[in-house]
Amino acid sequence: MLVAGWFINILLRVKIGGQAYCPPQNFMKNEFSLKKLINNYYLITDNQPEASNIFVYLNKGQALVIDSGVSKKNLKQFISSKFKIKKIKITLTHVHFDHIGGLKYFKPSEVFLPKQIKNNLKNKKNWALEYITDKETQKLFKNLSLNSILYQNSEGNLKIFKIINALGHTNESVMFFDKQNKVLITGDSLYSGKPYCFFYNSSKTNFIKTLNKIKNLKFNYILPGHGKILNRKAALSTIDNWIKALKAKKL
Ligand SMILES: [Zn+2]
Repeated sequence: MLVAGWFINILLRVKIGGQAYCPPQNFMKNEFSLKKLINNYYLITDNQPEASNIFVYLNKGQALVIDSGVSKKNLKQFISSKFKIKKIKITLTHVHFDHIGGLKYFKPSEVFLPKQIKNNLKNKKNWALEYITDKETQKLFKNLSLNSILYQNSEGNLKIFKIINALGHTNESVMFFDKQNKVLITGDSLYSGKPYCFFYNSSKTNFIKTLNKIKNLKFNYILPGHGKILNRKAALSTIDNWIKALKAKKL
């Protein structure tokens, strides 16, 4: 989650040159838009206030989806029709509402989650919904029950990615590292903007450790939870700024 209040969010995104500003849903024609990135990676932009980036990794006729936005419309259907595939798996970087909305369109057998994410998903307190001022989104999540779904653990099922614990933003956050393509998917552990470390399960100390961990990984590209894709140089400079900000306790 970037920040409560989508006006601030819009200002931030325009400022950082991230996803194009999209007006409220009444004025929108398309819920999702699709863009090809490097190698087999695609970005789906969910044109909802606050919504996270959604990444798709295509491999041998199968799609792995990482994060799912707010998804007022059927994310799975969008992916199936765009890529003409039926084999789709989904996983998450953490459980904030702006990353988990699309999960409801998937079957339990298609959802693969690290244990700590599965556990925190059960507790709506961890979804950061209390920061939402947008009534429509609140309504969307009010009756969303994901508790009854039997999620599978991701171990052994996401072979292309190494799952890296990324405590700090929240206590269940993870990142996905594709060593072969030198791509790191960071969720809200790194993006162009400023770090959010004010949730009740956030930790500044752990956030700094996670940022240092990222520095030591041999990545060329960061696919972040929000905003534009970062190359290594931009990522390292953002990391330095975030560490400074976290140490200065300005957040
Ligand atoms: Zn978040």
